[in-house]
Amino acid sequence: MIVQQEVDLQPFNTLAVPATAERLCAVTTLGELQDALALAQAEHLHLHVLGGGSNVVLHPRLKGLVVQMRIQGREILERLPDSVLLRVGAGENWHELVEWCLGQGLYGLENLALIPGTVGAAPVQNIGAYGVEIFRFIERVEGLTLPDGESVCLSAQRCEFAYRDSVFKNRLRNRFIITAVVLRLPLFFTPEISYPALREQLTAEQAGELTARAVFNAVCHVRRTRLPDPQTIPNCGSFFKNPLVSWFLYEHLQNLYPTMPSYDVPAQPGVAPLRKLAAAWLIDQAGWRGKVFGQIKVHDHQALVLTNPNRVGADAVLAAAEAISRDVKERFGVVLEMEPQVFGG
Ligand SMILES: Cc1cc2nc3c(=O)[nH]c(=O)nc-3n(C[C@H](O)[C@H](O)[C@H](O)COP(=O)(O)OP(=O)(O)OC[C@H]3O[C@@H](n4cnc5c(N)ncnc54)[C@H](O)[C@@H]3O)c2cc1C
Repeated sequence: MIVQQEVDLQPFNTLAVPATAERLCAVTTLGELQDALALAQAEHLHLHVLGGGSNVVLHPRLKGLVVQMRIQGREILERLPDSVLLRVGAGENWHELVEWCLGQGLYGLENLALIPGTVGAAPVQNIGAYGVEIFRFIERVEGLTLPDGESVCLSAQRCEFAYRDSVFKNRLRNRFIITAVVLRLPLFFTPEISYPALREQLTAEQAGELTARAVFNAVCHVRRTRLPDPQTIPNCGSFFKNPLVSWFLYEHLQNLYPTMPSYDVPAQPGVAPLRKLAAAWLIDQAGWRGKVFGQIKVHDHQALVLTNPNRVGADAVLAAAEAISRDVKERFGVVLEMEPQVFGG
């Protein structure tokens, strides 16, 4: 395991904020990860785990040890008549996995095509797009606990998955490193095309039978037309989660704005009913789409995405996010929660 010092992290985060890691090591095996943990423990270093850096805001200097997850591997553990159990290394590229599964006749992940980042980060925020969330397919998550390095396997239930949330963002934040994800994938394709833009795209393209490949292609097309490519316009995807609000607030806003989009939230025992609003709509209504604050620009085609064309630092990004959420709170009484994780500071 090679540990580098004072490493430039700008190439390793899709928002392209300038940042330096005091120390950095890329781990490709479980053994290397254990060595990194031992080093962090021996030298009392704070440990940060980085996958593809597509959902983080990095402060200029990260003290301690940044571990870049690079563990590879795809292994079929079990084959049943209707499904397959697949174990994937946490450092595998997410989109490449989706495409590979499609080629193998393993279905379910089509709607999650083109989400940047690694497989190990997918359970962290329970990635989701176009009506599908990854939790549906997760059987278990394997990893090491911090700081002791104990090997632990968490069932999907123990991952406490919720909308863009899991135990890894809460109770196990900075206390668990995911090394592999075990997925149960169906061998039969069931289309999920409830999302209007996806349906429109499929109607335009699809002449005959609806296939998983057609859904995959449509998802890729919709994403390419609506979302900026981080390679050319630095960004970290949706900057805010869609807010869950009380029915009281929802009805109040619905009366004021009858065209406001909103979505069902599955009822939970003991929890007052909630309604999900579209953060992009609120930000757009508040006049932020296409606007520049400091040097941060709200994307022209998607108000949820903050872009960093001049590659400025975390302070500018967080100041823009703060100004937007303050404005949305004042206008609509809705609190926006940030989606990316902030490192350092
Ligand atoms: C253009 C664009 C579009 C996007 N679209 C979507 C979308 O449609 N849906 C969606 O859900 N997200 C989306 N995202 C956000 C992002 O791609 C996902 O959250 C992705 O899963 C992050 O993966 P990563 O490897 O880059 O994680 P990183 O950004 O490196 O890390 C994110 C968090 O996960 C933690 N983490 C990473 N790997 C591990 C590990 N092995 N063990 C423990 N913790 C770990 C990190 O410590 C950090 O807290 C988008 C981002 C961009 C830039």
